[in-house]
Amino acid sequence: MTATETAVRKLSFLNNGQWEPGSSTLHPVTNPATGEVVAEVPYATTAEVDSIVRSAHEAFLKWRNVPVVDRVQVFYRYKTLLDKNHEELAGILTTENGKTIEDARLEVRRAIQMVEVACGMPSLMMGDSLPDVSAGIDSISIRQPLGVVAGITPFNFPSMVPMWMFPFAIACGNSFVLKPSEKVPMSPTRTAELLQEAGLPAGVYNLVHGDKVAVDALLKHPLVRAVSFVGSTPVAKYIYSTAAAEGKRVQALGGAKNHLIVMPDAQLDKTVDAIISSAFGAAGERCLAGSILVPVGEVAEPLLDLLLTKTKAMKVGDGIQSGTDMGPVVTSEHCKKITGYIEKGVAEGATPLCDGRESAPDNGGFFVGPTIFDHVTPEMTIAKEEIFGPVLSVIRADSLDSALKLVNDSPFGNTSSIFTTSGKSAREYANRVEAGMIGVNIGVAAPMAFFPFSGWKQSFFGDLHAHGKDAVAFYTEQKVIMSRWF
Ligand code: NAD
Repeated sequence: MTATETAVRKLSFLNNGQWEPGSSTLHPVTNPATGEVVAEVPYATTAEVDSIVRSAHEAFLKWRNVPVVDRVQVFYRYKTLLDKNHEELAGILTTENGKTIEDARLEVRRAIQMVEVACGMPSLMMGDSLPDVSAGIDSISIRQPLGVVAGITPFNFPSMVPMWMFPFAIACGNSFVLKPSEKVPMSPTRTAELLQEAGLPAGVYNLVHGDKVAVDALLKHPLVRAVSFVGSTPVAKYIYSTAAAEGKRVQALGGAKNHLIVMPDAQLDKTVDAIISSAFGAAGERCLAGSILVPVGEVAEPLLDLLLTKTKAMKVGDGIQSGTDMGPVVTSEHCKKITGYIEKGVAEGATPLCDGRESAPDNGGFFVGPTIFDHVTPEMTIAKEEIFGPVLSVIRADSLDSALKLVNDSPFGNTSSIFTTSGKSAREYANRVEAGMIGVNIGVAAPMAFFPFSGWKQSFFGDLHAHGKDAVAFYTEQKVIMSRWF
């Protein structure tokens, strides 16, 4: 056996506190920076998912009776363990996802913030009360957990996105089954081990790996009461319609096509830095990544000159090495998909100012460099479809009104940012734009853990959004109790 083979970790499911290998053939997990196989993961069968959901249900019957002040003690300990293992978690994340180690550290910090907020569940879960709603009658409202909740998550934030869900769900008294992306199962495995170490009772948190078979088994399982999903729009629609038809509560966060508007009065240097971070940070694999740049009026030429100079200075390479500005994309297939979009952009008549196919390192990893297209029109494929890679399309506008029309014509509505020194323009934009997360001189307007992650239109299917108070409402059912004592 070679050294590389011994380093390949065989991953398991976590079922009722036990790590189980699964019965399927194993599927490779690759390091996108090198193309090497770093782990192997089993895909669950319907029967394996059934066994895990049943364990989760048994655990729920006890966990829901643990007082909330005791439930959150687990998360205080978990936060300490996550802090202690922060650097290890960031390293695992970069190894399986490809993002730079600095981005990975930030992701882990964001994940920990979710746990910190969930520690406030005794206050967050409080209901209302009003004495004497009628003569001698008092009324209170309380929140109770639902039961088994399932989470299905994407490849781009393997530490943070699951934590949008399970710390809130479990602190509310539910049990949880996570089905993370099969492309990045190592981070969820390590964070699950730490949750066990924090003392969570067996079966309250469970981990299952797999593809559509595992997802469908969760969506159809009668003991699963609610489904939280984050991923692409076509799958989000499928999850929403399938789980809702089964009578489950669903929140399904989908894909995006985000616009960055630059007004003529914008502060150029800082604006360009924010655009680069938004469009090319995490190799564009963020649902909040800016993918359409809309310069308004005469700002276009100086903006693009500076943007191009700074973009060309970016260092693309293995994200684990410090000094790397942009790492690889997640898989070889995804890399081909992105370069296919670049080909399409050229074929449809857009002007490549810099072409990521030329600046990609050639070392066996899945690299595509930062790409900027000028003179893009709204009808072009690269303007309409989510690319989820480091490709920025420039569509020029002649006024704030025409920029707003362009954004609001998009079927997506995740995020949008405006860069300006005018409070009036910023205020008007924020009020009229049809998107759920708005940045003013901020390129990635990611809400903190105590606010909801609130996409609109084809970027979100459901009612209650992820984390913050919405998560508490999503993971609980309300009961109103009226009392009269004779
Ligand atoms: P994806 O939709 O391919 O996969 C997400 C999850 O769904 C994975 O666990 C996967 O195994 C599962 N899945 C995939 N195809 C399925 C199918 N046909 N039936 C059932 N389950 C299926 O998404 P991805 O490529 O992992 O992640 C990228 C996407 O996620 C992008 O579109 C991005 O915009 C989106 N995203 C959205 C948000 C948000 O907050 N709105 C956040 C992060 C990522």
